[in-house]
Amino acid sequence: MEVAVIGAGLSGLTAAYHLRERQVAVLEAGDRPGGVCLAGNFHGIPFPAGSAYFYYPWDDAWKSWYASLGLDLDGAIIAPPTSALWHRGGWLADCFSPKALPDWPVSDRDRLGLQKLVADLARWEEDWDVLGTRQLPEPQLDDCSLAQYVEQERGLSPEVTEILAPYCRSCLGGGPETISAWAGLYFLMAEWSSGSRLAAFPEGNARLTTALAQVLPRPVRLQQVVTALRRTGDGVEVLLWDRGAKEWRSLKAGVVILAAGKVAARRLLGGDWGWREADWERFRYSSYVVAALRGPLSLRAPGYENWVVGEPAFSDFILTPRNAAAGEDKVLVLYAPQAVPQGQATLLGQTPEAQAETLLAALERHFPGTKQEIKEIQLFRFGHAQIMATPGFNTWLRRECRTADGPLILAHSDLEGLPCVEAAIVQGQRAAREALAWLQAAKS
Ligand SMILES: Cc1cc2nc3c(=O)[nH]c(=O)nc-3n(C[C@H](O)[C@H](O)[C@H](O)COP(=O)(O)OP(=O)(O)OC[C@H]3O[C@@H](n4cnc5c(N)ncnc54)[C@H](O)[C@@H]3O)c2cc1C
Repeated sequence: MEVAVIGAGLSGLTAAYHLRERQVAVLEAGDRPGGVCLAGNFHGIPFPAGSAYFYYPWDDAWKSWYASLGLDLDGAIIAPPTSALWHRGGWLADCFSPKALPDWPVSDRDRLGLQKLVADLARWEEDWDVLGTRQLPEPQLDDCSLAQYVEQERGLSPEVTEILAPYCRSCLGGGPETISAWAGLYFLMAEWSSGSRLAAFPEGNARLTTALAQVLPRPVRLQQVVTALRRTGDGVEVLLWDRGAKEWRSLKAGVVILAAGKVAARRLLGGDWGWREADWERFRYSSYVVAALRGPLSLRAPGYENWVVGEPAFSDFILTPRNAAAGEDKVLVLYAPQAVPQGQATLLGQTPEAQAETLLAALERHFPGTKQEIKEIQLFRFGHAQIMATPGFNTWLRRECRTADGPLILAHSDLEGLPCVEAAIVQGQRAAREALAWLQAAKS
């Protein structure tokens, strides 16, 4: 092949899409394309079992990229209120809209401080076009944690940090004390921005990966676990275990795009390649459980995304379909990021039944009566779910982390240092450009 793409998550599929005029093999270890963009379905009710929503594209190039995949973007815009905050037994609808700031459940002093912070974010937004770039705007913000920044630099009380915690844990893999102020503020900037809009399909971002996989000229090769990469005179030899046929295979490619995260990369890129074990040590991940609970739920929540403050067992939930009639079955999708560093041990140490019981008890604590309405639960477990942008990580990543070595190009969303679908798309696009340049150079 001219190109082998390893991993059919959003980044690998995006790379393959931009190389579709070339001879490309997409190799995926799992049973379906999509990676963490995973669709769920509970007796005919679709729901996002992994990655859920994206930002409505902010420029025409992005818009036409989505449109070229046949996606109805306007139909996917989330009706307001997009988010809501559950704090001390009450809801604050549209909590991340600047209009809701006067109603934030904090002291007058904190409210004023928050208004100033949101005004600064709106000002910075002009220059914070960070995806795909090597420079951090306001780089000093990457030196400290979000909690330090909020409390020490801005003089806000720990109560503000506590309110921001579920958002940070769910979207950035770690609480405000763990993630860098730079990463946290970059995400919050988009939430508070008056110009940004959230969009989602009923089955979540799996709609994007399915669309990408469908337009590729060759089907994704499933159940192909890549186990070694060897540099050859004119490209790379890819060794893989075909889980379906239960046999070893090898494939030669002029260029390889490795669109899998650290766990695969650190195993595949010793020896022949220019990465050191110490480079991979810097990549830290949160773990995640997504629980889908089905039943004729009477629980009402104003937002599409509903953040629950002060609950260690989960951070947020969505209720789908949003317009279900009373008494009809709904699915409550509960997002349960696992605390770092003990998260993986909890994830692996608990049986699914125990995990479900923990989540049900937590839900019942906040919304009594919900537990008895639930008929069935599905659990989805993500081991290395989200890259954690700890202080200094994005600075190091952009300055020092290499993303290619000759015919081998890395393309995982982790290389943006931010866990979001836009990061995966940008990385896939970059890798495709670099692969084309390499093929071009090899030809001449
Ligand atoms: C639970 C959850 C919810 C999220 N929600 C959102 C959200 O709402 N909005 C948002 O913007 N972002 C969200 N994210 C983050 C975002 O979805 C991801 O950053 C992005 O989709 C990752 O895409 P990727 O292609 O980089 O990686 P992955 O999806 O991890 O894909 C990597 C692929 O490589 C394959 N692979 C690995 N090793 C090998 C091997 N040796 N051989 C062959 N194949 C291999 C894997 O099986 C996988 O399919 C969420 C993430 C999680 C985990």
